[in-house]
Amino acid sequence: MAILTAIITCPKSANITIHTDSQCCISTFNRIMDPLTPLRRLQKIPNFLIWQAIKYIIRSNAISLDLRKVKAHSNDLYNDAADALAKEGASSPTAIYLNFKHIPNQKATLTWMNLGPLERPVRKWTTDVISCKSFNRFINSSNISSLMSKCQAVPIDFSITQLWINYNPFVSITSNELSSYISYKIKSMNSLLPTCDLLQRNYPHVYPKTPISCPSCNLSTDSNDHIILCSIYSPIIVDLLFTHESMLTQFLYDKQPTPHKIPRDNIQTWISLTPIFAANRSVPVSDNLDLILISHQFIPKSFDDLFMKIFPKKKPRRAHLIDFLHFLLMDLRKITWLAHCDARAEWEKSLNISQCCKRPRQRTSSRQSASNSRVTQIHRTDTPSTTQNVYASSLWLIWASSNFLHSGSWTHHRSITLHYNIFFDFISFINSFNIDVIRHPLLLHDAVPSFILG
Ligand SMILES: [Zn+2]
Repeated sequence: MAILTAIITCPKSANITIHTDSQCCISTFNRIMDPLTPLRRLQKIPNFLIWQAIKYIIRSNAISLDLRKVKAHSNDLYNDAADALAKEGASSPTAIYLNFKHIPNQKATLTWMNLGPLERPVRKWTTDVISCKSFNRFINSSNISSLMSKCQAVPIDFSITQLWINYNPFVSITSNELSSYISYKIKSMNSLLPTCDLLQRNYPHVYPKTPISCPSCNLSTDSNDHIILCSIYSPIIVDLLFTHESMLTQFLYDKQPTPHKIPRDNIQTWISLTPIFAANRSVPVSDNLDLILISHQFIPKSFDDLFMKIFPKKKPRRAHLIDFLHFLLMDLRKITWLAHCDARAEWEKSLNISQCCKRPRQRTSSRQSASNSRVTQIHRTDTPSTTQNVYASSLWLIWASSNFLHSGSWTHHRSITLHYNIFFDFISFINSFNIDVIRHPLLLHDAVPSFILG
């Protein structure tokens, strides 16, 4: 845009030299001006409408433009002045809009929600929109709704959560161990670990019809939500957190980028103030919301905040954080889920329930059961859901539209809306585009006053 606004002020047949610190701009300019670059490929260049306009002005005004690279942040007077102007422009409420309908060779331009044209490769853009919508559906899914409403006050870092779910601690990139490792995490996240309530639902002919108590404590109905809250495991979990608290102090002290620059006492204080460890001293396990979230593989933002103090750079910070999570969560799995599996196996043995009992029944009845399950499915879809969404189901529209207002990925805007559980003023959001957006679906949405409900 800076190049466009510069050349648009120049007279015809001018010889212009622009000094820039962006090698990317110079390379893109060379690709745009290359007559061998096909139009289809030009459409895949970011901001291709601006580049098309630059090409048109250069050709029609017979301008000779030379782009020269200068070193960034090298106290070049004019480059620093250009940087300052760019920063000022980025935060300015006014913006320059191109009328893309007048750009030659552009037979059609895709637009989004009447906010503006798509200036990115369409496939990548579509992937983002689908990701926004899938994620919105996921955080409102019935499987995690009780967890989300209980822990709504705790900001979750979904980017790190995604990294954690995909983390592979094994040497090989594919293995049975990796499959079961990831499968455990996904089931734990979606509350689909085979606890007695789910086994009873899946094998009604095998398990007792009455509600089944937790095989470890025999005090509450067995469910995914109960595992971390089970009174039998609570004292062991408290001890585990104390152990990992001191191990983390040593880990961060050893791994800090400049050896021993940060005193051990400071690191120890920061860790003790982190919600999961602070709550471990003051409240029972059932009230330690960060622990409950992490036991379901959702990583609270407080972990990244802690690691940020020691590792300012993103890449090493995330690598060390994921390493630590692996040790903590695998130990937590051992003392909760694996202990629960052992207790359940003992209980099943006492009732003579074996793996053989869980095999599908004879083929004669499978057709009948298939038709029954179909009836059940139809029944389920016909019944309206009574649970209210924790988050608004239109958040994906905000995330997918945010790129028209600011740079940055949709996940950045997801963090802003979900980390801080902000009361989202959608009218200001839409008005901030400063263009005619009367057909934006957010303005037609009924339940608009608050974007985060509850
Ligand atoms: Zn229990």
